[in-house]
Amino acid sequence: MHKEDKLPTTKGPAERFTGDVYVDAIATRKPEPSRMIVSRVRFAPGARTAWHSHAVGQTLHITEGVALLGTRDGAVIVAHPGETVYTPPGEDHWHGATPEDFMEHLAMLEGIAEGAETTWLEHVTDDQYGRPA
Ligand code: MN
Repeated sequence: MHKEDKLPTTKGPAERFTGDVYVDAIATRKPEPSRMIVSRVRFAPGARTAWHSHAVGQTLHITEGVALLGTRDGAVIVAHPGETVYTPPGEDHWHGATPEDFMEHLAMLEGIAEGAETTWLEHVTDDQYGRPA
């Protein structure tokens, strides 16, 4: 057993996020057969991911604020601290804060080939973002 060093907080890159998003690694990739990757992600009000999908799905656990999570059918889920949202493999989606609140979630996914866990797509437009259920 060992305590891991805290890695620096990184800023979500502009090609993958709208607004200010900060990522802290909690569980980094370990040698196979381990696959777990966990991050704490913090979104400023109005910030959200671009559209994307995960090869092996993703579990999101909301820890602070109010989360919005959208899919291609136009549905937008609202989730609160203590709630968990699962995205199945290959499903296009986005997640972010509301316009009025910060949001923090734990993002849990499984590693496959390096960098292939997530397929990043276009940004979420203001129109797509602005229609919560
Ligand atoms: Mn996702």
